[in-house]
Amino acid sequence: MQLNERLGIGMTSQRTRDRLVARLSDQGIDNIGVLDVMRSTPRHVFIDEALAHRAYEDAALPIGQGQTISQPYIVALMTQLLLSHGNLNSVLEVGTGCGYQTAVLSQLVKRVCTMERIGSLQEGAEQRLRQLGLRNIEYRHGDGYVGWKARAPFDGIIITAAPREIPKMLLAQLALGGKMVVPIGEDGSQALQVITKTADGYETEPLIPVRFVPLQSGVLA
Ligand code: SAH
Repeated sequence: MQLNERLGIGMTSQRTRDRLVARLSDQGIDNIGVLDVMRSTPRHVFIDEALAHRAYEDAALPIGQGQTISQPYIVALMTQLLLSHGNLNSVLEVGTGCGYQTAVLSQLVKRVCTMERIGSLQEGAEQRLRQLGLRNIEYRHGDGYVGWKARAPFDGIIITAAPREIPKMLLAQLALGGKMVVPIGEDGSQALQVITKTADGYETEPLIPVRFVPLQSGVLA
């Protein structure tokens, strides 16, 4: 898919993106689809112009409202984990933020339903993703803790902010055999986990330590 890049930033540079993807591959990201999509998706359009020159560093960066865009390695890893059991029809993303993870995901699955509790971030993300020509995304300004019942069940759920414990309401919206990729824990001691819904409950697989902003209830303008 050819994405429409925003004109006017000189250093959109394919080469810096190629270097980022080479680093991701060295770090163990081996899903070709994920690497290809991250090679072609302009991360700089998701970041304030003052910070855009740092867009292809493997770092989290501020996106306003005290929130951050996830580090590229974590975006790649979470996406790869979510896709690990084949093609997905519908995915729920909680925590749209600037929309970069949404952009990556939407090019690899049939449909993304994305929720964000902060209205101004939600609007910014929606505008950017539409400008990039990504159309298989549904947006909702709302509290992701309660999920999106009308669109459930989902084949996969990705949460890009950290709850303290497994969000049970969201687990209920996951299809049997579906996976939830979520950072769980208090600030300072979070672990990325993959939770698989099984016939008699769920299985959890804790992976690496991570640092995410907390998942919070309620909505803000
Ligand atoms: N994937 C995003 C991550 C942004 S940080 C990106 O790379 O830009 C996490 C986001 O989760 C923040 O925008 C925050 O406002 C949002 N968030 C936190 N709690 C939420 C909730 N209960 N429902 C929906 N969004 C939430």
